[in-house]
Amino acid sequence: MPISDPQLVKIVEARVFDKLVCRKCGAINPPRATKCRRCRSTQLRPKKKKLGMKKG
Ligand SMILES: [Zn+2]
Repeated sequence: MPISDPQLVKIVEARVFDKLVCRKCGAINPPRATKCRRCRSTQLRPKKKKLGMKKG
């Protein structure tokens, strides 16, 4: 389902990509997390990609 409304895209991006991914185990954590919920690692990286990068 493609999204054409640019405002909606911003909202979706914020919801989908504003997450933290653990560098150790790859678990997805809430954006405000300071530790990985699975392995307790503090090495979290922000998961921010632009839409449509998979096919690029
Ligand atoms: Zn982890």
